[in-house]
Amino acid sequence: MTDPKIPTVQIIAIGTELVLGRIQDTNSFWLSQQLTELGAEVQRITVLPDTLEEVVPVLQGAADDGANFVVVTGGLGPTPDDLTVEAFARLLGEGTYQERGLLEDYMRRRQIGEDELSPGLRKMATVPESAVVWASPAGWAPCIQVSKAETTFFILPGPPREMEALFDRYVATAISDSLEIKSAARRLFVNMSESEISPLIEEAMQQYPGLYAKGYVALRTDTHMPVDFVARAASDREARTMLSGAIDQFSAGVKALGKDIHY
Ligand code: AMP
Ligand code: MG
Repeated sequence: MTDPKIPTVQIIAIGTELVLGRIQDTNSFWLSQQLTELGAEVQRITVLPDTLEEVVPVLQGAADDGANFVVVTGGLGPTPDDLTVEAFARLLGEGTYQERGLLEDYMRRRQIGEDELSPGLRKMATVPESAVVWASPAGWAPCIQVSKAETTFFILPGPPREMEALFDRYVATAISDSLEIKSAARRLFVNMSESEISPLIEEAMQQYPGLYAKGYVALRTDTHMPVDFVARAASDREARTMLSGAIDQFSAGVKALGKDIHY
């Protein structure tokens, strides 16, 4: 899909624990679902350790690619191994500072004075100079927004609950505001093999440009395989119309083969 009206997004998950296989990168999985449902095109998912040598060139690469948005998770914690903010300061050629609004938020929530702010809290309030910052409804590390060339980066903390709350509150709206394209999606189940469904899927995708359909062999049960349909169009109504047309056509094909479909 190369329609220029569809915003392109890259996802970058940062954390040494992820590349060591200690923690599964569920953030990218969740984000890719949300972003696709919003109607954006996820171009790439990258998982990196907490090292500047790995992180900075990948951030630069996303800007060089001209991605409209990049969603970065991880490396915003209080400990010295978390260095995502430093990586962005290098990317942008900027310094960092302790954002006043966040420090005040921490003092209010913890009921403490300025001299009681721990080094960890001060670190989590530290952001690149040009950043736009939003406090978290679910934790301490904020959502940080910065731009390089044509690319807007949203930097989110790694813990899934905090990441999801910040994405829903700030990132999803920013991305859907930029959208000229809407999407609609649905999953069906058929008692067919991949080779049996593939001509039907091809036919539906040819008939409906803007439609993506795929059967998931890896997710099949003893009897049924899930098939996903994702329709993208200029309005919600057109996307839903495309989706139901494609599903009707596919269902007719399934029934013509004497197979069974459920929703
Ligand atoms: P952070 O301090 O922002 O680097 O994130 C801290 C914790 O969030 C990690 O120890 C993990 O438990 C969790 N976490 C970080 N990245 C991910 C990810 N991509 N998927 C799931 N959990 C993650
Ligand atoms: Mg980390």
